Amino acid sequence: MANLIDGKKISKEIKDELKAKVEQYKKEGKECSLAVIQVGNDPASSVYVGNKKKACEYIGIGSVSYELPEETTEQELLDLIAKLNNDKKINGILCQLPLPKHIDEDKVINSISPEKDVDGFHPQSVGSLVIGQPGFVSCTPAGIIELLKRSGIEIAGKNCVVIGRSNIVGKPMSLLMLRENATVTICHSKTKDLQAVCKQADILIVAIGKPQYIGAEYVKDGAVVIDVGIHRDENNKLCGDVKFDEVEPVASYITPVPGGVGPMTIAMLMNNCVSAMELFS
Ligand code: NAP
Repeated sequence: MANLIDGKKISKEIKDELKAKVEQYKKEGKECSLAVIQVGNDPASSVYVGNKKKACEYIGIGSVSYELPEETTEQELLDLIAKLNNDKKINGILCQLPLPKHIDEDKVINSISPEKDVDGFHPQSVGSLVIGQPGFVSCTPAGIIELLKRSGIEIAGKNCVVIGRSNIVGKPMSLLMLRENATVTICHSKTKDLQAVCKQADILIVAIGKPQYIGAEYVKDGAVVIDVGIHRDENNKLCGDVKFDEVEPVASYITPVPGGVGPMTIAMLMNNCVSAMELFS
């Protein structure tokens, strides 16, 4: 039986640590503030944005909301970001993705000041991660490192296999594991014999984006399994990229879905906001 890695509990620990820090900063007259931009009213985005605002409220971070209509032009959005970049009271800028099709996401990501890039998506933030300089790190991969460390799992010297090479999960995840001195293999849709590669992993991080794809045949006995996926199954229940019931008896540690990686993303976003204030205000 695997030990469950409790993302709910660990994310609460992080949020409580941040709350104490923010309270202390307030006593010193320092306030932390996040601008949250949503364009259009995609229901999933509205849920994510709502959860981010709730987390800000819990910790004591001010949040300023911009709910823009679907037909907002790219230039209008860029103008708003330019204004927020110059606003000394705003420490972090979050523009909820995906954006409507008529807006170029890369242009928008590039327009956010790297000093306020709390999502860690700006090329400067990504470049800093590659060359080992300080900078904001994409929240989901940063949250996974916290899950591993706070569960007492050693990373240095371990064989880590990451399935997925997206810009927001797979690539930064691999770089962070490398920074922690793991030996890292990155898999993608052209990888030959995925099963054999995964079987070598001491730590298997699954961000393949396919519901319940990874079964026990991919997992070495005693491996640590981190499931990044979030999907709804045929009964509308949340599930991950891993067949939990099959893999759990083989693994030494495993993250459940829900309650594993998911809650960590917002906790790390909050952490990036507080760091932005500490470093740049
Ligand atoms: P994505 O952009 O769809 O990337 C999926 C990756 O998996 C791609 O690199 C793809 O390879 C690779 N892949 C697809 N089929 C494969 C196969 N048969 N064998 C090996 N590799 C394969 O997804 P993402 O944005 O990284 O997200 C991954 C999952 O995490 C999704 O379920 C998403 O919902 C979830 N997610 C969760 C959170 C959270 O907070 N918990 C945050 C972000 C994402 P190619 O590059 O070759 O196409």
